[in-house]
Amino acid sequence: MLDTQVIIAGGGIGGLSLALTLNQIGVPCQVLEAAPEMRPLGVGINLQPNAVRELFELGIDATLLDRVGVAAKEWALVGLNGKEIYAEPRGLNAGYRWPQYAAHRGDFHMLLYREAIAQLGESAVTLGARVSAYREIENGVAARVSHSDGSSTELTGSLLIGADGIHSAVRAQMHPDQPPIHWGGKLMWRGTTRAKPIRTSSSFIGLGTHQQRMVIYPISATDDNGTALINWIAEVTMDNSHGWQEDGWFREVPIDSFIHHFEDFRYDWLDVPTLVSGADCAYQNPMIDRDPIHSWTNGRVALMGDAAHAMYPTGSNGASQAIVDARVIGAKMIQHGVSAKALAAYDEQLCEPVSQVVLRNRGDGPFGLLTLVNERCGGEFDQIDAVISQDERDEFMARYKQAAGFAMETLNSAAATISPDTRITQV
Ligand SMILES: Cc1cc2nc3c(=O)[nH]c(=O)nc-3n(C[C@H](O)[C@H](O)[C@H](O)COP(=O)(O)OP(=O)(O)OC[C@H]3O[C@@H](n4cnc5c(N)ncnc54)[C@H](O)[C@@H]3O)c2cc1C
Repeated sequence: MLDTQVIIAGGGIGGLSLALTLNQIGVPCQVLEAAPEMRPLGVGINLQPNAVRELFELGIDATLLDRVGVAAKEWALVGLNGKEIYAEPRGLNAGYRWPQYAAHRGDFHMLLYREAIAQLGESAVTLGARVSAYREIENGVAARVSHSDGSSTELTGSLLIGADGIHSAVRAQMHPDQPPIHWGGKLMWRGTTRAKPIRTSSSFIGLGTHQQRMVIYPISATDDNGTALINWIAEVTMDNSHGWQEDGWFREVPIDSFIHHFEDFRYDWLDVPTLVSGADCAYQNPMIDRDPIHSWTNGRVALMGDAAHAMYPTGSNGASQAIVDARVIGAKMIQHGVSAKALAAYDEQLCEPVSQVVLRNRGDGPFGLLTLVNERCGGEFDQIDAVISQDERDEFMARYKQAAGFAMETLNSAAATISPDTRITQV
């Protein structure tokens, strides 16, 4: 007798989306989360319309999402000279049937956690439980679990899903020869400041060059004073020949330690040093990912989310893809039962195309337009049309959205990943 049907290692955005999906289709599961308590960690995150569609299907609608973020209206790239390179409407404004959200990662994560507890019950998520290894057993898989009180246990299930993030223990066992984490030399500092939104009340702005840029977007609605919580990411490219030398991957640092890189980012519509200095704190982390792997599954074990495809945040689609992974796993279980076959079908559908997105984001994703502008004119231009035509810019962006799974026409006309009210028959 197995302890549960599906063991989910990791209660992040991916793992909790999977738990909610499995509950919706009638598959029992148990989430094992290493953190001893759930806390609202992180800053800004984007939920693309393809992921918001799946959240809506889970009952996480605009009323709930409005509490943790704001519907995005625009995506824009601006050169170091302060002049616009590209702008397009986003979400409902662009004609999608579902909005795009810019959200607080921690608040959104807590929303998923509360929903999971409300729908599956408190015991469905075990905190302080780190999956350290797994082994095959008859008709299932056993996960070794180290608990925060020092004890260790084994949990058995039909399937194990590694949703345990970029440092995934499940992936390390599945692919023992994988290369170490890849760092291409970009360093990021992230934070939030209460300030007036720029352009529309909800614009995503990439500003600067491919080597040195700011990303700025609000993650809350504008309040009565006209201010919103503005998420900013300051990025510079450094020499990475010695690899990542500092301790820690996400640590608090003084704003003085990096603001000098952005002293010249002052315009009549934005003063970057003032914006950044208004934050309570800043977090430094290198922009990292992992080399794609040829398969995310091994029999009854599969990877999802960052464990499968950690990617640079240049395309703003890491969290969105984790949500989509969860829904595709659910859809394949409806087709093939709670089985290795379902995992193989999930792998077949997503591993190759999403691995391509990982590499595309490593090549700067949609910010690749800044690289093109830099190559053609060193970032100096009066009229952007003289450097790169509107058609070429539009095509560049359209290719990215198609590859990342949120091309508007394709998404708007696609059937639901999981038809409403479908419950699994072959558990
Ligand atoms: C603390 C934190 C802050 C973040 N902040 C941002 C941000 O500000 N902006 C942004 O764009 N992205 C951020 N991210 C990344 C973003 O959340 C992910 O890229 C995306 O949501 C995919 O989610 P995931 O569930 O696959 O992975 P993750 O979000 O990394 O979640 C993995 C979960 O698994 C748990 N875990 C790890 N190892 C084990 C194990 N062996 N056994 C059991 N549990 C385990 C972790 O504690 C974590 O809760 C953050 C991630 C984390 C963990």
